[in-house]
Amino acid sequence: MLETLPNTKKSQELFKRACELIPGGVNSPVRAFKSVGLDPLFISKAKGSYIWDADQNKYIDFVNSWGALIHGHLPPEVVDAIEKALLKGISFGACHENEIELAEIVTKNFPSIEKVRFVNSGTEAVMTAIRLTRAYTKRNKIIKFAGCYHGHSDSVLSMSGSGLAALGLSTSPGVTKNTASETITLPYNDFNSLEITLSKYPKEIAGIIIEPIVGNAGVLLPKNNFLKLVREVSKKHKCLLIFDEVITGFRLSQGGAQFLFNITPDLTVLGKIIGGGMPIGAIGGKKEIMDLLAPIGPVYQAGTSSGNPISVSCGIATLKLLNEETYKYLEEITSMLCEGIKKINSEKNIKLQINSIGSMFTVFFTENEVYDYNSAKNSNTKRYADFFQKMLSKGIYLAPSQFEANFLSTAHKEDDIKKTLEAYKQISDNK
Ligand SMILES: *Cc1c(COP(=O)(O)O)cnc(C)c1O
Repeated sequence: MLETLPNTKKSQELFKRACELIPGGVNSPVRAFKSVGLDPLFISKAKGSYIWDADQNKYIDFVNSWGALIHGHLPPEVVDAIEKALLKGISFGACHENEIELAEIVTKNFPSIEKVRFVNSGTEAVMTAIRLTRAYTKRNKIIKFAGCYHGHSDSVLSMSGSGLAALGLSTSPGVTKNTASETITLPYNDFNSLEITLSKYPKEIAGIIIEPIVGNAGVLLPKNNFLKLVREVSKKHKCLLIFDEVITGFRLSQGGAQFLFNITPDLTVLGKIIGGGMPIGAIGGKKEIMDLLAPIGPVYQAGTSSGNPISVSCGIATLKLLNEETYKYLEEITSMLCEGIKKINSEKNIKLQINSIGSMFTVFFTENEVYDYNSAKNSNTKRYADFFQKMLSKGIYLAPSQFEANFLSTAHKEDDIKKTLEAYKQISDNK
């Protein structure tokens, strides 16, 4: 129950109704606010940097639909593009010109992507990336890293905890042992364990999938040369490197994390921002690999709503608003926020760790450096829940889990940052 938010009667009623019909009352688990000890808010509308719940409480939104909304809610240019597209048809189930335009924007900004196919979600894009990887290499095993999320398809749900190459342990019932046994989960930022694993399974590893910057364990940054070493060793062992840039693509730069780190993956998975908040996913890479896809190749993949005209128009309009200035601005306000929190912490002798890059950040409630899933897990989730609840009661809507990233948008203005810092100051005064 929302003890810190008295005026949430409507949300509570709606949640009750939802729970009767929808498992847990939600259509995606983190929305349930479980890990912050609350019942979820129901959202009634959003505009710019703000969202309103069903009781008309107004919040500054740092979730931004999990990073999909880089310009905040309802930027006029995007609304206009959607309206225009809508009047021409909701779905064709056939080819249309805007698919090509979106493909042009993606390939222009991502030199590693020679060809791209659009699907309906990041999950779908990852499924296809893995199928392609196996078909191309004629190998079966996939390496992923603990804490990295690649959607909810069977072969990437395995987390298998810490330690080296813990084979065959899935975190979800319903995933068969056989499927889980083809995925090896290793610690992020631990190059040594990757090298050992690749040597242990010669010619068996089809590919390595990674979030180059982890957003799904809270923000985790790659150490020193980690990504470069991953690229080199994957070449050496002739397995493909898949960058999952569903969050980082167009978030960290127009060329994603691969541009920042100057690394060329074999395949890239995109989503979120490229649909501007509408459902979308994309898989792209070398022609030679992409041309294995049906109808010119033998690897099957399809979708009734793929390349949906509304999603595609929303994505194009969103991406057209991005330029170098955008990223400069986003970094400026993000750093203003993070530095502001650090200043308050040092004044009040509060010890916590802030990981941030570009316009994404996580406040980890631990004193130690956080560089992988294990170290993230040392955070005090009770303290995070307390922080979340108090910030929410001050009108600040943060990621409802310690292990998620927060996102800024171009709709956030200096005034929003000041209000957020003032709220943080007040809640830390009350300690
Ligand atoms: C959100 C996300 C996905 C899954 O995308 P959906 O559209 O939710 O299926 C995959 N990978 C990463 C890195 C993500 O953040």
